[in-house]
Amino acid sequence: MPDDKSNSWEARAAAHTLYGFTDLPTVAARGTVVLTGGHGPYVTDVHGRDYLDANSGLWNMVAGFDPPGLIAAAQEAYGRFPGYHAFFGRMSDRTVELSEKLIAVSPFADGRVFYTNSGSEANDTLVKMLWFLNAQEGRPERRKILTRVNGYHGVTVVSASMTGKPYNSVFGLPLPGFVHLTCPHYWREGKEGESEAAFTARMAAELEEVIAREGAETIAAFVAEPVMGAGGVIPPSEGYFEAVLPILRKHGIAVISDEVICGLGRTGRAWGCETYGFVPDAIISSKALTAGLFPMGAVILGPELADRLHRASEAVEEFPHGFTASGHPVGCAIALKAIETILEGADGAPPLIDGVHRLTPGFEAGLARLAEHPHIGEWRGKGLMGALEAVQDKATKTPFPGHLSVSERIANACTDAGLICRPLGQAVVLCPPFILTEAQMDEMFGKLERALETVFAEVA
Ligand code: PMP
Repeated sequence: MPDDKSNSWEARAAAHTLYGFTDLPTVAARGTVVLTGGHGPYVTDVHGRDYLDANSGLWNMVAGFDPPGLIAAAQEAYGRFPGYHAFFGRMSDRTVELSEKLIAVSPFADGRVFYTNSGSEANDTLVKMLWFLNAQEGRPERRKILTRVNGYHGVTVVSASMTGKPYNSVFGLPLPGFVHLTCPHYWREGKEGESEAAFTARMAAELEEVIAREGAETIAAFVAEPVMGAGGVIPPSEGYFEAVLPILRKHGIAVISDEVICGLGRTGRAWGCETYGFVPDAIISSKALTAGLFPMGAVILGPELADRLHRASEAVEEFPHGFTASGHPVGCAIALKAIETILEGADGAPPLIDGVHRLTPGFEAGLARLAEHPHIGEWRGKGLMGALEAVQDKATKTPFPGHLSVSERIANACTDAGLICRPLGQAVVLCPPFILTEAQMDEMFGKLERALETVFAEVA
């Protein structure tokens, strides 16, 4: 630490930068962690201290913090064509190639891709596409969007309206026409004595009721993460997608898979929808799309929506939407390299998704072991995303009182020990880079276990 605290990195960070999703009193008390870079799954702060980042940044740095092949691809792309757009009938060659690649690795036989700078913008873009094409096709009332409580879809006005979190009420959101279904989390939402199959059937019945109440002809789409991420890593109850998809199909409601976290390997398959055995009408991608090296999102339309959008755009001459950096050539070059690195293997190395397969059994075993603790109510996860839910009383699943901020305390104790993990509600979430070694996984669980012991001793 520098002697002059007022001129420290921590003080300077606090002075002029606004944070996203940050508990300001905690930061005021603890100071900001100011980082200079990273290596492998570790990030390094201004004092030279390493932290194992068990959240891959924000779920996105799947190749770690110094992936040489990706950095070289970015450097080469900047040297070749440092910036362009995809407007007015022009786009870079790399943009063409990336769209071909994304369709090739998607579950779609054909389709088209629209590029954004983020996952939020990709969700907004998708909704605008549906509103636009339904209106052009003479169904302007088909505008409502169904999502789920605890689903996270972003922070822009539309994507925040899709997000099923109460915090958006501070903005007066959701907008009208955004309807949130029950979170399909059996452990938390299942009733006393209700089997998982009965719970899933109840979720399907609720969907039928909501469609009847709202009017199928007013609903444009159902948008769902295969595994909810920022809502607390919540895999759906057994048979959930098998139960809801036929209902949505019957009513002509588009099915959209928000794969911003699940996409490109995280759940063990290229896409989370593949893990859960369904083919949606469109996929929303971001994060691992560039392994976190470039801000980029994509709306990947399957053949039917792609054709309909194309026809609707022709009718009014254009689809009036796009971002200055849509299809940025450097972002596209990085994404091409990221997809190759994750799914196919690049520069003689095996594909990173092999790491997901290799690590998942140990990851699940580590979570299951920590879940034996009397104050962990359940562990849950899929592939390399997992969560441990803290409870005051395991038998009744009673959470700790909110003022104790249990998960934040656990995360803070982890940070003090050199491990970054994320508190979400009363859960602690782990979502490590795919390059983790077994020894680093042991380090992760060891540090987390000590943090749990310390905090539960304080609060229990
Ligand atoms: N959808 C999902 C499933 C996400 O997890 C996120 C971000 N965590 C978003 C959308 C929004 O992405 P962004 O933060 O890039 O706007």
